[in-house]
Amino acid sequence: MNKYDSELVSGLLNSDGFEMTDDIEKADVILVNTCSVREHAENRALSNISQLQSLKRRKPELILGVLGCMSRHLGDKIFEDNTYVDLVLGPDSYRKLPEFLKNRKRYKNVEYKEYETYTDIFPLRKDGVTAYVAISRGCNEECSYCIVPFTRGKERSRSIESIIDEIEKLLDEGFKEITLLGQNVNSYNYQGTDFPKLLKRVSEIENLKRIRFATSHPMNLSDGLIDVMAERENVCPYLHLPVQSGSNRILEAMKRNYTVEKYIGLVEKSMSKIKDLSLTTDIISGFPGETEDDHRATIELVKKVEFDSAFTFKYSPRDKTEAFGLKDDVSEDVKISRLAEISEIIREVSLKKNREWIGKVTDIMIEGKSRRSDSEVFGRTGGFKKVVLKQNNLSAGTIVPVIIKDATSQTLFGELVG
Ligand code: SAH
Ligand code: SF4
Repeated sequence: MNKYDSELVSGLLNSDGFEMTDDIEKADVILVNTCSVREHAENRALSNISQLQSLKRRKPELILGVLGCMSRHLGDKIFEDNTYVDLVLGPDSYRKLPEFLKNRKRYKNVEYKEYETYTDIFPLRKDGVTAYVAISRGCNEECSYCIVPFTRGKERSRSIESIIDEIEKLLDEGFKEITLLGQNVNSYNYQGTDFPKLLKRVSEIENLKRIRFATSHPMNLSDGLIDVMAERENVCPYLHLPVQSGSNRILEAMKRNYTVEKYIGLVEKSMSKIKDLSLTTDIISGFPGETEDDHRATIELVKKVEFDSAFTFKYSPRDKTEAFGLKDDVSEDVKISRLAEISEIIREVSLKKNREWIGKVTDIMIEGKSRRSDSEVFGRTGGFKKVVLKQNNLSAGTIVPVIIKDATSQTLFGELVG
């Protein structure tokens, strides 16, 4: 979502006559987009911002701004403590940018505007074949560890027409694959149109080859959505379904509104209906009160479900959240060792799942040159698995059938069929 927001802000600046540069020395304006989800992300952003101070000293006319969730969370402090920061804008305040750039007076706006969807602004993307399109902003869930509902506010869904319009423009620009974005896409609702209906409508757009979406909250993963995924060929068989923990006690304390049994039931249903479904997840380790038994339950869940891959995080206490009132009683060492154990099991199950592809034929969409060698390209399967091909004459966006010859836990290696 931050990547999309950066593109949105670039779009705003672009229509105001600004151009993107990759060379920081050439920039007249530097905007740091920030995340508040974990303390580590905030610390990194603060260190990036402070590193820009010397550049600003050398080039006083440079405009330095801080955007995103951290502006909502710590914007007052950032603005007061760092006089070299000219601008602090929260996620709902980006429309203030052009006005600020005209006046160039130090400015801060971190107001929450519950109606803002930026529907009329066309984000400026880098060239490529895949693009993000936000379908909603904010979040109505109350996961007890999560700061997003505070920083981004209540959920608002974008109009269907504006989503379709943005996708059609992207197709005209040569993009082939769209990822629909929301903190919880499954609760999308625009004047009675729910997410399965929107997804079906999007999948009917002519020439749209691939559609993905993120993130799905397990609580409202509906049969209707599973049916659309199963029926529509251009909806990729890929589901990012964060489970967070394998212990019902912890899930309750996290206020996730589902049990492990319900989650497994959803996975089984989805797997049985959607051919070659890839499933990925998020896991938090060391939530307050997490015992060794709770941790073992998470390990058991990972082994049972066999996720294709997973993002794992150490619990990070965030003020403005309900869990902040709980004692952060799992020590750093224990968090680290539990996380390492979970990551190792995930590596093993990912390798097993990837090796199951050896000998099978699947379509991949080429995304570009491989990082390892100029004589190789890489693409992705419908299930979002990276496939490297010894081939250099295929351009990005081409969909080709490949046979999988080898696999690591991260990458598949294939050959063109025919
Ligand atoms: N709306 C999305 C993204 C939320 S943030 C979703 O619900 O999946 C992405 C991930 O960060 C979450 O899934 C969770 O695993 C992790 N996360 C959120 N708050 C956290 C915290 N306080 N400490 C550690 N991880 C956290
Ligand atoms: Fe945070 Fe939960 Fe909303 Fe995701 S669904 S953004 S974890 S509150």
